[in-house]
Amino acid sequence: MSESATGYRVSAAGLLLTYWCNARCEHCYELSGPQRGGWMSVEAARGHWAALKRLGAEAAGLHVGGGEPFGDFERLAAVVRAAREAGLEGVGYVETNGFWATDDGLVRERLAELREAGMRQISISCDVFHQAFVDPAGPQRLWRVAREVLGEAGVRARRWRFLQSPRDLRKATAEEREAAYREAMAAHPERMTGRAAGRLARLLPRWPGEKFREERCGDGLEEAGHVHVDPAGWVFPGTCAGILLGRADERTGLDEVLARPAGEVRRVLAARGPWGLREELGSPLGFKNEPDGYADKCHLCTSVRTFLFRTGKFAAELGPREVYEED
Ligand code: SF4
Repeated sequence: MSESATGYRVSAAGLLLTYWCNARCEHCYELSGPQRGGWMSVEAARGHWAALKRLGAEAAGLHVGGGEPFGDFERLAAVVRAAREAGLEGVGYVETNGFWATDDGLVRERLAELREAGMRQISISCDVFHQAFVDPAGPQRLWRVAREVLGEAGVRARRWRFLQSPRDLRKATAEEREAAYREAMAAHPERMTGRAAGRLARLLPRWPGEKFREERCGDGLEEAGHVHVDPAGWVFPGTCAGILLGRADERTGLDEVLARPAGEVRRVLAARGPWGLREELGSPLGFKNEPDGYADKCHLCTSVRTFLFRTGKFAAELGPREVYEED
């Protein structure tokens, strides 16, 4: 656990190398997909790692994700290596959906290189949403070979159940996919942010926004122990993509960004939740409730934030564009 100058606690930090992904999952909170581009430079990553070193971050909470970071393996390996070069003890884990794991030899080679570079664990993203795009054989091969190369503690899956009993939904009908999504969300609720708010929320029961009147976001936003840094250096709380804490670049370190006081959007969300955001900032500018209602508080929040983002009045606090608009 570490603290910035004003007490913003950081226990976990992830570098999102890119918004590019081979998949276009319906629960993706960053709207990643094959149409996206843009990669974090190794130099920028080194700067973020150095800031995390100044903050006293521990390797276990540090991770690299995307998008899909294995879309540029050489860059990924260099970014992992850069953590040690910045004085850290390594990187806790790297996230992947395993699409690239087409051959045992290739998997062994890449995992060994990442291990030497300082990666402790590979984290496999595996669920019905990914299975609409990724051949289940990939993550299964990755799991098996990773246990050989990295040991039992060197691999984890989100979610094990879907890795163990995979479904290949790549050729499923829209109805079959929706049934699988409904069943998965009943067992493992997803937060309705990002693409989920536009694509998955319609599969769930919805309520008028007033239902979420009492729900606050203080813990998640004011003491967001988990932060993400996107390819351009935009920093947001790990669970709330699109709420900007600032931009870390060659002039302003990540530690300086985290030391800044909260802006208006974050203050309102922390004190009054998304209903308060609607009342204080959305309604005065003309925000109207979705007629079909909201599946959860994050769905309401995403709806209000998207409206506010489009007004252009909160450019320092809401962005980047990739998180609010599909290409
Ligand atoms: S309602 Fe908004 S601020 Fe609160 S947890 Fe959900 S996305 Fe984050």
